[in-house]
Amino acid sequence: MSTPRVLSDAPWLRSGPTARVLELLNGHGEEARVVGGAVRNALLKRPVADIDIATTALPSEVIRRAKAAGIKSVPTGIDHGTVTLVVDSHPFEVTTLREDTETFGRKAVVAFGRDWVRDAERRDFTINGLSVDAAGVVHDHVGGWDDIAARRVRFIGDPHARIAEDYLRILRFFRIHAAYGAGEPDRAGILACIGGRAGLATLSAERVRMEMLKLMVAEGAAVAVQAMADGGLLLQIFGGVAYTGPFIAMIAAERLLGLPPDPVRRLGALAVAVTEDAKRVALRMRLTNAETKALDSMGHRWWRLAGMDEAIARRRLYRLGEDRYRDRLMLAWARAGRGVDPAPWRELATLPTRWSASKFPLKAADFIARGIAQGPLLGQVLALAEDGWLAANFPLDEAAVQAIADQAVARFTRDLRL
Ligand code: ATP
Ligand code: MG
Repeated sequence: MSTPRVLSDAPWLRSGPTARVLELLNGHGEEARVVGGAVRNALLKRPVADIDIATTALPSEVIRRAKAAGIKSVPTGIDHGTVTLVVDSHPFEVTTLREDTETFGRKAVVAFGRDWVRDAERRDFTINGLSVDAAGVVHDHVGGWDDIAARRVRFIGDPHARIAEDYLRILRFFRIHAAYGAGEPDRAGILACIGGRAGLATLSAERVRMEMLKLMVAEGAAVAVQAMADGGLLLQIFGGVAYTGPFIAMIAAERLLGLPPDPVRRLGALAVAVTEDAKRVALRMRLTNAETKALDSMGHRWWRLAGMDEAIARRRLYRLGEDRYRDRLMLAWARAGRGVDPAPWRELATLPTRWSASKFPLKAADFIARGIAQGPLLGQVLALAEDGWLAANFPLDEAAVQAIADQAVARFTRDLRL
């Protein structure tokens, strides 16, 4: 049974590029509707990013109509019936209605169809199964409307069967719940995810990365991540222990500092205590080089950043750079246990906003002038002088700087003689 209701407050449906695409595809026996995430977000009054459109028209007809209207079409997923139309530089994925005939793990063999109910039923969760037509009428064939009102993320159909068709849905379940749901995840959904968890091993690392990084920064990440840990899912994903306490404390620390959520830093709190953790997780999730480095840094001696006085904190900040300093410090904070006084941690975490080191004022020339020859030894003297400069608390006046250069050379030549 379908229960039509109206989507108000969606000006993008009435005019502009979306309206134009719908108008193009409607009529002459065909129908097009906006489907999936865009409808969900519009109803939840969340920003609508990509607008997906479903249509009864076959891909060849979509391309024909676009061409006749002077609209660019790109056959981005033609095998699956998807054509991307570009209107005013907005891309729209237009997919012909389909019915799965067979599924093999992630890959489905599709046949085109003209049935909106079947199209809704193929989708993962009821709140993702709504469609809206050009007149703004919302078509609900799966009970998504009420679930949106209740902020309930439920599988369409039997959760066990839907997961066995596509194990990515396990990760999507927790991510979509974290982003759009309220309270604890749906019980039947959780149980089916636990039942299907071994199937996570069949997913590509890239897809796991994408879902997990989105999950890390979702509004309700704490509850969803706890449910995943309790169900043994994080152990399956990370191949090692998950630290939910530090993860929740990291979210709290970020909020206290007014920092935007950082997916990799949150992942570090959840999965990394030592560098072995970082290496394993980066590999299993195929993180980018930059992400891998950030995660790896978090596994290094973060504990030394607890209880530093300001002078030591400055030296560490200078050595680590702002991002690494903050990541490690916040990890130490998140791991300091419940009920710690946040005041000293906040002081240390905000050091980069209050202070930044000047550039090390000595150059190779300063040491060549003191009789050190070009070559590897020169680098060693420079490093020694930099240590001295840090220990002296970053002085800039000329006399102090020159004295540091003299001391470094004296120490170096003495060490060489020993
Ligand atoms: P977001 O764009 O916020 O990440 P989304 O729900 O829009 O979330 P997309 O990947 O853009 O996610 O998918 C668009 C729609 O396609 C979904 O709303 C859902 O209806 C359907 N969908 C996506 N992935 C799956 C899946 N693995 N199984 C079944 N349906 C899916
Ligand atoms: Mg989307």
